[in-house]
Amino acid sequence: MNLLPVKEKSKIYPLAAIRDGIIFPKTENILVFGRKKSLLALDEALRKDKKVVLVLQKNASLDNPQSNDLHPIGVLAEIVKYHQGEKGEINALVRGLARVKILNFTKTDPFFEVRTEQFPLKIEDNEEIRAMVRYIIDQIKKAINLGKAVDFVLLANILNVSEIDDLEKFANQVVNIFEIKVEERQKLLEKNDIKSLLNHEIELINKEIKILEIERHISSKTQRKFEEGIKESILREKMRTIEEELGEGREAKEINEYREKIKKAKMPKKVEEKAFEELKRLAQMSQFNPEASYIRTYLDWLVSLPWSVASTNDVDLKEAQKVLEEDHYGLKKVKERILEYLAVMKLAKRQKKYEDEKEKLKLKQHQPTILCFVGPPGVGKTSLGKSIARALGRKFVKVSLGGIRDEAEIRGHRRTYVGAMPGRIIQGIKQAATKNPVFMLDEIDKVGRDYRGDPSAALLEALDPEQNHSFSDHYLEVDFDLSDVFFITTANILDTIPNALLDRLEIIHFPGYTEDEKYNIAKNHLIKKQLFAHHLEDRKILFIEESIRTIIRRYTREAGVRELERQLATILRKIAREIIEKKIEEKKIIITPNKLHHYLGPYKYPTQMIEEKNTIGIANGLAWTQAGGDILFIEVATMPGKGMLTLTGHLGDVMKESCQAALSYIRARYGIFGLEKNFFNKLDIHVHVPEGAVPKDGPSAGIAIATAMISALTKIPVKKTVGMTGEITLRGRVLEIGGVKEKVIAAHRAGIKKIILPKENKKDLEDIPQYVLKDLNFVFVSHMDEVLKIALAFPGKKPTFDFSAVKPFATLALKKVN
Ligand code: ADP
Repeated sequence: MNLLPVKEKSKIYPLAAIRDGIIFPKTENILVFGRKKSLLALDEALRKDKKVVLVLQKNASLDNPQSNDLHPIGVLAEIVKYHQGEKGEINALVRGLARVKILNFTKTDPFFEVRTEQFPLKIEDNEEIRAMVRYIIDQIKKAINLGKAVDFVLLANILNVSEIDDLEKFANQVVNIFEIKVEERQKLLEKNDIKSLLNHEIELINKEIKILEIERHISSKTQRKFEEGIKESILREKMRTIEEELGEGREAKEINEYREKIKKAKMPKKVEEKAFEELKRLAQMSQFNPEASYIRTYLDWLVSLPWSVASTNDVDLKEAQKVLEEDHYGLKKVKERILEYLAVMKLAKRQKKYEDEKEKLKLKQHQPTILCFVGPPGVGKTSLGKSIARALGRKFVKVSLGGIRDEAEIRGHRRTYVGAMPGRIIQGIKQAATKNPVFMLDEIDKVGRDYRGDPSAALLEALDPEQNHSFSDHYLEVDFDLSDVFFITTANILDTIPNALLDRLEIIHFPGYTEDEKYNIAKNHLIKKQLFAHHLEDRKILFIEESIRTIIRRYTREAGVRELERQLATILRKIAREIIEKKIEEKKIIITPNKLHHYLGPYKYPTQMIEEKNTIGIANGLAWTQAGGDILFIEVATMPGKGMLTLTGHLGDVMKESCQAALSYIRARYGIFGLEKNFFNKLDIHVHVPEGAVPKDGPSAGIAIATAMISALTKIPVKKTVGMTGEITLRGRVLEIGGVKEKVIAAHRAGIKKIILPKENKKDLEDIPQYVLKDLNFVFVSHMDEVLKIALAFPGKKPTFDFSAVKPFATLALKKVN
């Protein structure tokens, strides 16, 4: 490189002013000269030694700068090559030689000529400078990584320099890599030493890198945004296409389908309006709106209800009677009551034409009452309901109300609830698929109530013929007409049915069956039914009478026939298996009593037999349980003690009170029974009623308890063949009790010959089958004294008790007895 000798001090050179470019020593660049003054200066230089001083003018916009418009420091450059352009301009490749200071202008016209002296950069080379160099190189790399475009040749030069022997050349070339403004370049050119030059460069480089980083960040962000934007619009487009292709098409189809279904459902006008209103909401809704599915469910309910579907409702009494007889054995009274009911229904229908006249006469049209079948489980309440439906040619549905405590179970939840549904009444109607089914509401006595409302109030509304033509379910929000529904309710007991409800019910008692009735039901109905159920109908399977009776006596204890049916099913199930396993070869299978053990295991119940001889302290009470009638052996023992009354055998409160009452009655009349005045102070009395684990309650064992106590205290035995039932008062009066039929049948079964009943119960004997009555002897009483005369086995002929000792009751009682 052609450097100027350092010793060259002041020298005169032509000068060309430059608007916006600075060439640094030891770098090359192409400059374009167009102004006349500059061209003349170049001419002068080319004529002499090709050297020209290039100086930045302070204001780039000046076309004809004067000497004081120029910076005082410039670069002495050599014109390496040049080329004259079409318009007379010169493109020259110039190489910077040295920094020079203008001392004075020797000429300003026609071109500038200046005296200059060299202005060399002070160079020092130490660790610090080297570190700065390394830092600058790193920053260059960083800049490149950040996307800065760098001339490859230039870069190669710099990296070359980085091995660095020429620090000034390095510093000057770096300036060309970065975008440094021309004023800043001038400042760099005017630096005295390498350190301050590099420092200033680092400052500028860092500024640029910062800008590069920001640019990078912005661009990556905009890139991301851009990409997201594209992604979203692609997805939207896809979604639209899918909706167009499937969704909207399907949606429209769905709405049309609903419209058709609503029309087909033949709803009342108001309901139809509501349905269309909801359909409109659905149509306007995006498919993805979660509410859409609620509306669909709601519409499904509306269109599936039998608003105007009904079974033909022509009652043929003869036909109905035939069906009832076919399906059920016995139940004479029940069947009669049902036929009467149907007759009234038929008349009501016929008389519709007279309604206007009735209206004038202010006569209410006969409203059918609601039937309520009351009785223990398994007595045929449900199956009779089914028969009624069959007799009337209507559908049958059964909804169990057991354990319901919430009004919403009957009347539905409002639609605002998640998972809301109509109540059980409307569900039953949907299941029936007709608006006039026979609708059985099972276990109406087990409906509870709590803070969630009173279900029985909702039930009343459903059942009440005056209101139920517009039954409102919370979910449906529209009324449903229940007036054509034939409601039948069932209950095990009447006590727990709310009075308001009870008022509307026509109670039909199912009293429970005698052994004979059970035998006939099994023979004529249950066995046939079970043979079909087990696909054995084509086999010859014969239950002999004694087997059936043994099953009834030793494997069941119930008022109905449910357990009996289950035992028969067990036998047939086992036979089916034996047939398949080829353990049974015979064509005809006869079930004899001794085979029962094989199929059903050991007997489950002992035969209820009375004591073998008259016994002290044991009386035969008669009880009525959920399972029907039963005989209670009441045992009383006395022992030395201090007047304690112990009661065992799972006795309920009412029964315990009966024991107390019986004891008080005895203590009040101690004299009659020949007892000491304070007998109770020296004794403890224990009353026990086996079977201990079976809960027992009710007041009807009162007279039996008193009898057993008196027997235990007086040591007079009780007659073993006498059974008794009746409530006792403190004065010894005997009060009416319930369940006579079941009790009498149970007593008969146990071998009782004489039965003591309260006088008021005389009427109940009508229900009792003749074959039972003929074996029994009945005595009707109104006072305990009478009971004792009959029940105790007095030694000798006459009663030893002096009933006249206590007046006036005893004498009155005696008179009555005699
Ligand atoms: P409930 O509803 O009173 O509990 P179900 O109607 O379920 O009793 O009766 C139990 C079973 O006994 C049914 O299979 C029913 O057909 C049968 N059953 C009850 N009583 C009779 C009867 N008198 N004649 C024929 N089958 C009867």
